[in-house]
Amino acid sequence: MSEHGAPVLARERADSDAVLAAVEAADLRLVRFLYCDYGGIVRGKATHAAGLADRLEEGIALTSAQMAMNALDQLQPVAGMTAVGEVRLVPDPASFVMLPYVPRTGAMMCDLLTLDREPSPGCPRSFLQRVLRRADDRGMSVEAVFEHEFFLGREVDGRYHPADRSLCFSTVGMNAAAPFTDELIAALEAQGLRVEQALPEYGAGQQEISIRHAPALAAADNQIVVRETAKAVAARHGMVASFAAKPFPDQIGSGAHVHLSLWDIHTGDNLLYDPDRLPHRFSELGAQFVAGVLDHLPALTAITCPTVNSYRRLQPHAWASAFVCYGFDNREAAVRVPSTFWGREQGTTNLELKTVDNTCNPYLALGAIITAGLDGIERRLDPGPPLDVDPGLLTDEERERRGMRRLPGSLDEALDELAQDKVLGSAMGEMLREGFLTVRRSEAEFYRHRPEEDEFASHYARY
Ligand code: MG
Repeated sequence: MSEHGAPVLARERADSDAVLAAVEAADLRLVRFLYCDYGGIVRGKATHAAGLADRLEEGIALTSAQMAMNALDQLQPVAGMTAVGEVRLVPDPASFVMLPYVPRTGAMMCDLLTLDREPSPGCPRSFLQRVLRRADDRGMSVEAVFEHEFFLGREVDGRYHPADRSLCFSTVGMNAAAPFTDELIAALEAQGLRVEQALPEYGAGQQEISIRHAPALAAADNQIVVRETAKAVAARHGMVASFAAKPFPDQIGSGAHVHLSLWDIHTGDNLLYDPDRLPHRFSELGAQFVAGVLDHLPALTAITCPTVNSYRRLQPHAWASAFVCYGFDNREAAVRVPSTFWGREQGTTNLELKTVDNTCNPYLALGAIITAGLDGIERRLDPGPPLDVDPGLLTDEERERRGMRRLPGSLDEALDELAQDKVLGSAMGEMLREGFLTVRRSEAEFYRHRPEEDEFASHYARY
């Protein structure tokens, strides 16, 4: 579990000159220009270091059609994303890292810009920045972190098997994974991330690594750094790391719980904390944010749990939540407000959304969560009383009496909810919304006609 605390930058955020100097000093040969698409796949192109100074300004050309590609490399029909037309992959120097797991290579996360140098309406990273400007207009900055769960496995004849049979939090599992874990932590630290905890999780071969929170845009960049690094380091140990939501039918799923807090940009105070609001000292503004997230949660789930495979995880009693509810220290509630740490009550007040997994595009996920929360603040929504029991243990009648909705049971249902959600839809804009819906619907359609074993194996491999 991530220990929240007062904001600290996770890494020095470099500018263009600093990137050029670092690339020259390290004698790098290639710099990857990366983006994350609607299918949650990290893709990119790499420039030779000799051309980097120009490309930092000009970007790298990408066909507009590329964002219409699903996670099966099938191009989908999306208006504005055809073979005619180009965008530019323009890197954010602040996201520069040197990759410790491949020779002489660096990487930056990119925004998609139109030829007029404007953010492309289909760009997920630009969407998050738009949403963060809205928070900034309200005097708020957002700190966030994704909590990473993943499996270590080995491939045999196109099927994957857990790398160990460790029990939850067991030292046997710690020892089995130790050579991998040590190299992973070193590689993350070399990229400026601060690791907080590492442990063997509930599933056989399952790992969790938590890192320090960061301003929301950097937090989304960091989600990609962790995914990329864990997969690359696992490969060096003869294993395949997977961030798929439920890659083994007989094992628990992997989540990417999002912890989030709001800070006053003028005073530096945590806006979720209110010492006078007993017993939990959780502010009214925080409650409104939670209410907004709950109000949009069925639609939001399409973005935060965006694969067919994700819905095998969102079941009762799976530490993932299956119902729209919140609670204090309630680990079966979709939104949990964790207890704070002694002596650091203000610094450690935060909220956690459990209905997220690492197959999401982190820019879309954080942008949508914050959009939903801001809507709750703007409408002064009340989340009602917190839930202090496991919602899965209540009867259907009791859940109905409390107005507690079941989360969507499939990707199709979640996408239908998203298509109906006007607040999320207008924040995303037409091209982004349509692109995302079309790509994800095409994946749902593909797996509808495939055997379950293929779904497990293919999600294991892709994520
Ligand atoms: Mg966990």
